[in-house]
Amino acid sequence: AKGAAMVTAVACRLVSQRKQIDDILASFELSKENLIEVKNKMREELEYGLKKETHATATVKMLPTYVCGTPDGTEKGKFLALDLGGTNFRVLLVKIRSGRRKSVRMYNKIFAIPLEIMQGTGEELFDHIVQCIADFLEYMGIKGARLPLGFTFSFPCRQASIDKGALVEWTKGFKATDCEGEDVVDMLREAIKRRNEFDLDIVAVVNDTVGTMMTCGYEDPNCEIGFIAGTGSNVCYMEEMKNIEIVEGTEGKMCINTEWGGFGDNGCIDSIRTKYDKEVDEGSLNPGKQRYEKMTSGMYLGEIVRQILIDLTNHGLLFRGQISESLRTRGIFETKFLSHIESDQLALLQVRRILQQLGLDSTCDDSIIVKEVCGAVSKRAAQLCGAGLAAIVEKKRENRNLEHLKITVGVDGTLYKLHPHFSGILRETVKEMAPQCDVTFMLSEDGSGKGAALITAVAKRLHNVGEN
Ligand code: BGC
Ligand code: MG
Repeated sequence: AKGAAMVTAVACRLVSQRKQIDDILASFELSKENLIEVKNKMREELEYGLKKETHATATVKMLPTYVCGTPDGTEKGKFLALDLGGTNFRVLLVKIRSGRRKSVRMYNKIFAIPLEIMQGTGEELFDHIVQCIADFLEYMGIKGARLPLGFTFSFPCRQASIDKGALVEWTKGFKATDCEGEDVVDMLREAIKRRNEFDLDIVAVVNDTVGTMMTCGYEDPNCEIGFIAGTGSNVCYMEEMKNIEIVEGTEGKMCINTEWGGFGDNGCIDSIRTKYDKEVDEGSLNPGKQRYEKMTSGMYLGEIVRQILIDLTNHGLLFRGQISESLRTRGIFETKFLSHIESDQLALLQVRRILQQLGLDSTCDDSIIVKEVCGAVSKRAAQLCGAGLAAIVEKKRENRNLEHLKITVGVDGTLYKLHPHFSGILRETVKEMAPQCDVTFMLSEDGSGKGAALITAVAKRLHNVGEN
């Protein structure tokens, strides 16, 4: 009888532990109603960003890009491109051929940006960038060429033309001083001058979403949306000029960089944020900012997972109740680890091996729980992005007064590309939330580099900008 009582006690404890875990996982579940609300709220914020009276204070910034069309295949020439703000910093040489044998060839080099430079002074950051360009030009043997350059700068910029862009604020892992409010093209030109070794013709500053849209638009003219699900999260799309109140003119279209990562910064999605989201926000470089991005992008998903694991461990539900040094370390769960852990082919033993690599000693039960936690966090991320995208495609459908809209979204980013379930759940959610739209997702092959070059080519042709 005593034995039976003990068995019952153990069983009860297990049931109650399981319930605690399930409750935490459940706080990441979104009902259909939740998702519809996210879609409707996003739609509202898109409109605020476009309207003159509310643009300045809108949380979804809706920044005009001065990109007014997708490429038409006549672009050609040799260009340099810079790609700053994603997983890697790269310098590229892009050769575009037009006509019947149109093609794009690229050569690129990846450079590291050390943390102390990402978070040092603006001058140091731009000097480092110019140093990398110098290395690349040397390496390619093209130092004297003075090529036109497109700068993919994956942060919010307020643009007044294609070759001017003031940084609104840093996001993700960057925090260099004296840059916010400054023109990034000017900062780059000044750093080139300081070095006094070569000259470049800076023609365009481009958000990565726009580069991605342009790259896919080169193959598919139906591509009028660019989406990044990587280190950060963002969308751009072609909007009717007549709806963009802060830009003169009513004819044609212009690409709008939504900066949707800031969605929720006014508290409008607080009801679905968990205490883990709040902890991640508070521990970030930009507390209170980019709340939607912090629930949906690669830089933060691992951090949410880590906060949950810490909580579970504190409650004795994981890792034998022992918080290890690794678990205390910010940023250990990079996108690639999350993607591995969630891969269906992976046996639990391999999950344990990954955790081991991260310095986490797990039992078999632990590894099951960790996998479930990762699944809950990434599923919510994909659903949230899906609801957001549904708001965009619905807006485009209504803009054109169509019963049905067929549209292509150009996509890039490590989360979208590496994660085993993210893209599938995203697609499903868009379908469910925007049933009148037929959305095709097109993977961009190196949107940041190619897109910047294409935009530079178009800008050279149309305005002959940058020659100063
Ligand atoms: C930035 C966007 C960028 C996105 C994806 C966000 O943090 O604010 O400008 O497009 O990350 O890289
Ligand atoms: Mg990128």
